[in-house]
Amino acid sequence: MNKTAINTTIDTLIRPEIKALNAYNVPSSDGMIKLDAMENPYGWPKELKKELKARLADAAIHRYPDPKATGLKMQLRRVMNVPETQAMMLGNGSDELIQVLAMAIASADRVMMAPEPGFVMYPMVAKFVGMQYVGVPLNSDFSLDLAAFLTAIETHQPSLIFLAYPNNPTGNLFDAEAVEKIIEAAPGVVVVDEAYNAFTDQSFMSRLGQPGFENLLVMRTVSKMGLAGLRLGMLAGSPAWVAELEKLRLPYNINCLTQIAAEFMLKHDGKLAEQADAIRVDRQKMQQDLQMLPGVEVFPSEANFLLVRVPQGKASWLHQQLQLRRILIKKLDGGHPLLTDCLRLTIGTPTENMALMAALVELLDPES
Ligand code: PMP
Repeated sequence: MNKTAINTTIDTLIRPEIKALNAYNVPSSDGMIKLDAMENPYGWPKELKKELKARLADAAIHRYPDPKATGLKMQLRRVMNVPETQAMMLGNGSDELIQVLAMAIASADRVMMAPEPGFVMYPMVAKFVGMQYVGVPLNSDFSLDLAAFLTAIETHQPSLIFLAYPNNPTGNLFDAEAVEKIIEAAPGVVVVDEAYNAFTDQSFMSRLGQPGFENLLVMRTVSKMGLAGLRLGMLAGSPAWVAELEKLRLPYNINCLTQIAAEFMLKHDGKLAEQADAIRVDRQKMQQDLQMLPGVEVFPSEANFLLVRVPQGKASWLHQQLQLRRILIKKLDGGHPLLTDCLRLTIGTPTENMALMAALVELLDPES
């Protein structure tokens, strides 16, 4: 086949909605203060690293990993308080679980629904699997517009609803009663995505298995807890639901190094909790400091990041100027009308936070 023929084949074979997509772009962050992706900025203490290294060296990498990840699941159940009656499924990050859920349910006439602005992977995955997506706008303070959501449920009869709790990129927790009303009204399944659970006291996990919550699934990830490099997500729900979803999970999706490392690190969950607590304290400090900046609005957050609105028209410029100072944050301006002039700042180490603050003070100085 010559080059023209290959291009024609690509044009005919790749679905138009996939051709119209942009691949998920991760900016280069070499040598930068990385405050764009909600990672935990702390590494592991030396002694624990040494022990982990020894365990990884003993890994049976010539064999496929434990397909059931038994030891790892035990630790996840304990650390994440998954009720005994509930089943668990693991994914290569919770991104993979979103995809498995969508694949299990998708057809051209079925709808996925989520509040907007929300996590970008929900609409992307809906496109991947050929399912309709309906985003329901939040109120301007980023709270759930319950009346609008219930009307959208009535109109579109969604098969699959995602509610990020706390929400990304806004950082707030939705009102728990409003979430319950959505679960009650939903004709399909509702996934409460608790990716940022380490930074809040609220969770829907204990509602699993309770009457009225038969259509609820709860999703978690270890990414924000300090283990982003391992790629491990967890979905908890009724054994009947999980049994169906398990059919779509590719064999051995959780590799043996991830299983060993995550199991080991979750056994030291006290250390992870300590780091999450430090991040919560620094979040509050950053919130206070950012509020002092001229023309900056800081939104309430129960996650490891803060959403800020900067003076009109300055978001792109600030993002760029910070990049020149080797600080990487997330620009949200231009993504959704409610996010005009908004930036998302991950909480870093105290030193990183100070560097960000110093740069912002300088850049937003009205005298300069
Ligand atoms: N859900 C939410 C709300 C997120 O913000 C993210 C990551 N940014 C994920 C899920 C995916 O997490 P991971 O694939 O790293 O587990």
